Amino acid sequence: MTAGITAIVGAGPAGLTAAYELTRNGAGAVVLEADPERVGGISRTAEHGGFLFDIGGHRFFTKSAEIDALWGEILPAGEFLTRDRRSRILYGGELFPYPLRALETLRKLGPVESARCLFSYLRARLAPVREPANFEDWVANHFGRRLYEIFFKTYTEKVWGMPCAEISADWAAQRIKGLSLGKAVRDALFRRPGEAAAKTLITQFKYPRRGPGQLWAACADKVRAAGGEVRLGRSVQRCDWDAGSRRWPATAARAGGGEETVEAEHLISTAPLRALVGMLGPAPPPEVAEAAAGLRYRDFIVVALIVKDRRQLADHWIYVHEPGVKVGRVQNFKAWSPDMVPGPDLACYGMEYFCFEGDGLWSMPDRELAALAGDELVALGLAERGDLVDACVVRQPKAYPVYDDGYAGRVETLRAALAERYPTLHLAGRNGMHRYNNQDHSMMTALLCARNILAGEDRLDPWSVNEDAEYHEGGKAAEYRPVPGKLGRPG
Ligand SMILES: Cc1cc2nc3c(=O)[nH]c(=O)nc-3n(C[C@H](O)[C@H](O)[C@H](O)COP(=O)(O)OP(=O)(O)OC[C@H]3O[C@@H](n4cnc5c(N)ncnc54)[C@H](O)[C@@H]3O)c2cc1C
Repeated sequence: MTAGITAIVGAGPAGLTAAYELTRNGAGAVVLEADPERVGGISRTAEHGGFLFDIGGHRFFTKSAEIDALWGEILPAGEFLTRDRRSRILYGGELFPYPLRALETLRKLGPVESARCLFSYLRARLAPVREPANFEDWVANHFGRRLYEIFFKTYTEKVWGMPCAEISADWAAQRIKGLSLGKAVRDALFRRPGEAAAKTLITQFKYPRRGPGQLWAACADKVRAAGGEVRLGRSVQRCDWDAGSRRWPATAARAGGGEETVEAEHLISTAPLRALVGMLGPAPPPEVAEAAAGLRYRDFIVVALIVKDRRQLADHWIYVHEPGVKVGRVQNFKAWSPDMVPGPDLACYGMEYFCFEGDGLWSMPDRELAALAGDELVALGLAERGDLVDACVVRQPKAYPVYDDGYAGRVETLRAALAERYPTLHLAGRNGMHRYNNQDHSMMTALLCARNILAGEDRLDPWSVNEDAEYHEGGKAAEYRPVPGKLGRPG
């Protein structure tokens, strides 16, 4: 069966993957992307004066052989670099290896602090908090309160902008499941060469030479070559379901002025779920609008600082656990790929700030943000004042869907109500499903949506793809097998 036209909101990994799957199977796809210049969404490559940088560092790593093969199909193998992960934690003026290496960590913490960590770990094992409901108790149960305070609390609170006691334990369980201090230590000390590490401790990943956006630009080219359309500078404003004709007129505001409408049989949305509900017609009932309005997001700023490369850091990124500065993490783009930084004597550091749209950091003029980032880089000892050459600020709204109390119920309400009212609406991706998905899972949800459209019925459930699931297409039905969890940190 050949499907008709599908309108796709967003040319990030999910939207482009859906378009790729549809068009290579002979179906029509029109992708409408609000950004007037670039595809890739949060996984785009940004550029300033010849320096390329990434919105966060995007590791290409997946447990899904299918997604891995897709990456290889979109971008020639020679365009991918294989990276040995190098990241450290800056705490108390010391750089600690991450993933934590037991002996080095204990040596750097010193005998007194190490003993405190060990006792607090033993106490947590002997008397854990029963049924931990929040992030703080969940992590303290697994690592002990002292290690939680040193290596989890500050960074996590910077990322989410709320006390760890208010972050759902679900989130910790999803990201850190299956890994206790004991396992981390075992992994560090006794893992044999070639033996698989727990997922968070993965030591290698791939990265396109010119950043993640290189892959998504290549994907857009392939979609176009297969007869699909990727239209930039089209911000979708209204999607009106016509039950009579079973069609979607989707109307977008053009960046240059004016509007255009695409008529489609199916609509895939990768736009934030909260925004989508406001675009839908006929308007859903008030309780649905209320559930959508309750979804929250965490926003993100990266200040790319171009500096004289005095330190020659090998780290891909450094987690900043120092409470005295606002920066949460420092990316070192040259270590991701030398092609990101022109010139051997310069480096480009991405100073990452987590914030809420409209708060003090978000509203700060670019010049002040650049000054703050420069001051903090110097304060952290990663550069000297005279090393700062240039800066560029990029704001990324809705970088993280927030998992607060009640988010799961809201998403469930929306999912059921939208499926019932709009039978050919498909939700995919990270903000599109309000899921903390990486690229691979965002892509997999999109693949499943496209396959349902191609099949003419909803056979596969994109909601069963998640953080800890591996996709297996076995015989009749698709199933998702849980994979071992990971000792993770946001982003
Ligand atoms: C700091 C950070 C670090 C990360 N690190 C990694 C990593 O190491 N590895 C990894 O695999 N993943 C990582 N991710 C996750 C990855 O960025 C996402 O999984 C992925 O980009 C989600 O793809 P998407 O298509 O669902 O959404 P997005 O990337 O958000 O793309 C959605 C697109 O829709 C467009 N859009 C929205 N509304 C409209 C509208 N109304 N009309 C038209 N267009 C619209 C947006 O402009 C955007 O281009 C990271 C994310 C962050 C924030």
